[in-house]
Amino acid sequence: MGKTLLVIATRNKGKVAEFREMFKDFPVEIKSLLDFGSIPQAGEDGETFDDNAYNKSSFTAKILGIPVVAEDSGLVVEALDGAPGVYSARYAGEDATDEENIAKLLKEMKDKINRAAYFVSVISVAVPSGPALTYEGRCEGLIAETPSGKNGFGYDPVFYYPPLKKTFAEMSIEEKNAVSHRGKALAELKREFDKALIWIKQRLAEVKAPGGSHNHDH
Ligand code: IMP
Repeated sequence: MGKTLLVIATRNKGKVAEFREMFKDFPVEIKSLLDFGSIPQAGEDGETFDDNAYNKSSFTAKILGIPVVAEDSGLVVEALDGAPGVYSARYAGEDATDEENIAKLLKEMKDKINRAAYFVSVISVAVPSGPALTYEGRCEGLIAETPSGKNGFGYDPVFYYPPLKKTFAEMSIEEKNAVSHRGKALAELKREFDKALIWIKQRLAEVKAPGGSHNHDH
């Protein structure tokens, strides 16, 4: 059986490695945006994680003419009415560093008693004709009073996970993947991937079939 080509819509080597690992037992060939040079990017200006993941996957799939997997993630804090949410990467400004984002979060949380928060990861798998499948993972925790730990990235040093009594930045990569939002979304994608592959092949065949409504041969 031939391998299906899939592109992961990221230039982040860490994310590419996680996806490659996930897909290693499936009949797919994985590429990422690192294999394509410069291409137009979908704007990340949606109001939800779903919107952003879908916009990124379908936009990139249309441009490349290949099925694309995209992920969007962020931190949702209850006492801040859901902030930083879809603005997680640029909470303290357009090119904010992780440290700046954490500093802003701790400032906003200064007098808050309710420290509840969750991370969310949405994975969207789109075909070039537009439709997509969506997978989601969440991880609930608390915003710590001060940063702790050196591992991971983003808000990891201030995301405290009560069941392991550690922040994400105090966990090994394996510990984090076993409980994290992205780990759970990837696990769901993996569980469903046999079905997803059939769905992808059917969508690709529809486009190629003579007389099909999206027939690019004419
Ligand atoms: P994305 O690259 O648009 O998905 O941005 C996600 C942003 O959410 C990142 O820049 C981080 O600030 C935050 N984030 C998402 N996942 C994690 C995580 O696992 N740990 C820490 N921060 C995360």
